[in-house]
Amino acid sequence: MVHGADSGIQTKGLQGQAMSPNPYISTVIRCAGPNCDRIRGENNHWLMCRSNPVAFYIEAWNSDGLGDDRIKPLCGDQCASKLFARFLSDLKCAESTVAKEANRS
Ligand SMILES: [Zn+2]
Repeated sequence: MVHGADSGIQTKGLQGQAMSPNPYISTVIRCAGPNCDRIRGENNHWLMCRSNPVAFYIEAWNSDGLGDDRIKPLCGDQCASKLFARFLSDLKCAESTVAKEANRS
């Protein structure tokens, strides 16, 4: 286990609210979906998104994954869809950058 793993569940700047360093409060898990600020309850069926500039993964909820700061908690398929749409538009930008790089060689 990595120390400070709890910091991985922060959704920095998304909702304009930094999480408290208080360890009891930092257990609150907030949805990373655009324009969504739902907080995860005990029995909610949430999803996890793991993405990088060229790949987008949706995973079943797994508390162990929260130590990874690339994980974005999502309250459901609607927020997953919104985040995926955002990923696709970012990907188009990335593709055009890659194309420029390829043409250069
Ligand atoms: Zn949400």
